[in-house]
Formats: sequence, structure tokens, C-alpha cells
Amino acid sequence: MLKDEDRIFTNLYGMHDRTLAGARARGHWDGTAGIIAKGRDWIVNEMKSSGLRGRGGAGFPTGLKWSFMPKESDGRPSYLVVNADESEPGTCKDREIMRHDPHTLIEGCLIASFAMGAHTCYIYLRGEYIREREALQAAIDECYDAGLLGRDAAGSGWDFDLQLAHGAGAYICGEETALLESLEGKKGMPRMKPPFPAGAGLYGCPTTVNNVESIAVVPTILRRGAQWFAGFGRPNNAGTKIFAISGHVNHPCVVEEAMSISFEELIERHCGGIRGGWDNLKAVIPGGSSVPCLPAATIRDGIMDFDWLREHRSGLGTAAVIVMDQSTDVIKAIWRLAKFYKHESCGQCTPCREGTGWMMRVMERLVTGEAEIEEIDMLLDVTKQVEGHTICALGDAAAWPIQGLIRHFRDEIEDRIRHKRTGRVSAVAAE
Ligand code: SF4
Repeated sequence: MLKDEDRIFTNLYGMHDRTLAGARARGHWDGTAGIIAKGRDWIVNEMKSSGLRGRGGAGFPTGLKWSFMPKESDGRPSYLVVNADESEPGTCKDREIMRHDPHTLIEGCLIASFAMGAHTCYIYLRGEYIREREALQAAIDECYDAGLLGRDAAGSGWDFDLQLAHGAGAYICGEETALLESLEGKKGMPRMKPPFPAGAGLYGCPTTVNNVESIAVVPTILRRGAQWFAGFGRPNNAGTKIFAISGHVNHPCVVEEAMSISFEELIERHCGGIRGGWDNLKAVIPGGSSVPCLPAATIRDGIMDFDWLREHRSGLGTAAVIVMDQSTDVIKAIWRLAKFYKHESCGQCTPCREGTGWMMRVMERLVTGEAEIEEIDMLLDVTKQVEGHTICALGDAAAWPIQGLIRHFRDEIEDRIRHKRTGRVSAVAAE
């Protein structure tokens, strides 16, 4: 279990003072100029050796991503953009950072921007996050007043401006290039890649887009050392991680833990166990709504990190763990996600625009059992035609939950269809 002294986020629950004075008392903004004085290369190398992988879902190594930014400007400015859109169902970790521990993020923005040669950083905030915007803006204002932002930020010699941009509430704006479009004032529609943002991002300039948690952990990693951070978790899965556990546990919560914690320990220690006991567990979506679910028998011995979950054909994603007990109609739960992705598709590419609607409609009939058994494989086939054939990952996000459902709960789907024919309602059907 992660010890209290190893927690990066010491005010995740808002129990302490979230102002600058409170943050300083907890060790933030300590020696920031000294870290910056060590130089760009030192910071990037230290981030590489910390083993930090992006916390927004994809898990791409953060230090490596930073190293893609140009060393010398060709006349264009560089930008850091922080993705605070957090719109994936089940995911609610970044909002705790922004409303209760905002200085971790702001200090991280300064150091990370310096490491990438950026004098300006934008935080793109989810449309629905009104209170988070207020808390974050108040913290930014405090930092300007205290000289931690603006000219010679924190006495580092680096001029740095930080601006908050508030979205209008579209899930697709969490996709990095759609986010950049939205930030530029256009409709939030993903761009084709390449060019990648490090070459041509915001306003056609070199840009790195990072998740809130990825940036907020940076100052503590640099203060305590890459090796300290790398000491948590299994190789290739380093660090501490914020998990957001929702659904049928006794105490749903958001908690910072060591990476590679076992699923059982995470649930027992922090959530008071599964509602109705472990035998009542049915399925878990371990990484936010876009990753495939895993049945109880598999996840019971699960290790909560990138590699174990990928090996078991799911994913850590944002570490938003959605727990479902035996009372859940898992077919209906996945149908609801299919409906969400259909609603949020931006409509730019045909497989996603048409496929998400098609998948949702078949799922609708699987929920009631008014379908043919053969349609299960037809549906699976459509998910394969959507997956990997779209401009952005929303197509995959819509396909994967359905693939997970069919992989693990095919019997239940078939059972429902057969019992519909015989007039009996399945024991697991929705109420
Ligand atoms: Fe838009 Fe879907 Fe294509 Fe992404 S995959 S660009 S959301 S239509």
C-alpha cells in the first residue's frame, strides 16, 4: 500500500487549505526555480527515467513525448496544452486535482512548458466543470499575484503565461486534435495525423498535449527524483496513480495508489469490498468506458497496470474502475455506452458515424432479446470494421466495449434471445 509520505496529491479530498499558502505548506512550489535552472535536457531525461506514462488513457511515455518538441524555434512559438476535458464515463480523477490541489498542476505547467520551450500553456477544461474552473482560475490568479506566473515566473528567468480555456461540453474535445481545433475556436473535430501536434499543433505550431495528472505529478517527481517514482509498480508501469472506483463497491472513491496494486487490494482497502461480497461480483470495466470489460473470474486476480490489463485484452485507460455486481444487466450497461458513443461521434468518418448507430441499434435488440443468434457475430464483425478504420480513437472506443461483452458474456446474450422465443424472461434480464 502507498504510504502517506509517498502521496503526490496530499489534498485530493479537499480536507486542507487549497490556496497557495496551503499548497506551499504541503511542499509545493518549493525550489521551482532551482529545478528549472537544471535545464531542459535534465528535466526531459529525468522524466524519461521516471518511467511516467501518460495518465490520459493511452499510456505513452511522457518524457519521450516531450522530446519530440523542437529544440530550437524556427520562428514559431511552442505550446503546452493540458487536456482537462475528462469526459469519459466513469473518469473523475482530474477534477479532484483541479478543485482541491490545483497548485500541483500549475507548477507542473510551468516546469513542463519550460522543458518544451513553451512560454504559453493552455488548460482546456471540460464544459461541465464550472466549480473546477473557478478553483483553478483562483489559483492561477494567486500565482500571478505572487510572481509565480508571468514575467520571470517563480524567479526562474522564464517568462510564462497560463490560460484557462473552457469547452462547451463535447466528449470528442478530449481527443487531442479535436481539442486543438476547439481551442482555436472551431468545431471540435479531430484532425488527420500526421502531422502530429509536436510538428504542427495549435495554430500550426509545435504543441504537446498532456493529461492533467501527467503534468501535476511532474514537480514532485523532479523534487524527489526519478528513481523514487520508478520504484512504484512493476517495470514499465512505474509510479503512483489516481484510481477512480465507481459502481457496486461499498464505498466508491478516488484514491492515489501505487501502480500495479492488485484489484482485490484496491477494492478491499479503499472501497470496503464488493457490495454483497466477492461472490456477488459480475464484471469490471477497469479503465473508463472505452476499454473492454472483464468478468469476475479474470479480474479477481488482476493487477492494475497497463501491461497486465493489456495482456488480458482490456486496458488501464484512465484507471476509472467501474464495478458491476450480479444485479447488473451487463448487456444493457454496454448498450448504454454504445448509445453514448453514438451520440458523441463527430460524424466526420463513415465507419464511426454509421457504425456507432448500427452497433447501438443491434445492442438495443440484444437487450430485449428480440434478435437472431447470428446477429451476435454480425455485430462483432461490424465492430471490427469500425475499429482501426477511423480518424480518431472514438471508433475504437465504441467498438471495444461491445467486443468485451461478446467475448465474455456471449452465453448471456444467447440465453436472452432463446428465452425470449420460449416466452420466459432470462434470470439476468433487466427489471
Ligand atoms: Fe469523428 Fe468518429 Fe471519425 Fe473520430 S472516429 S473523427 S469521432 S467520426
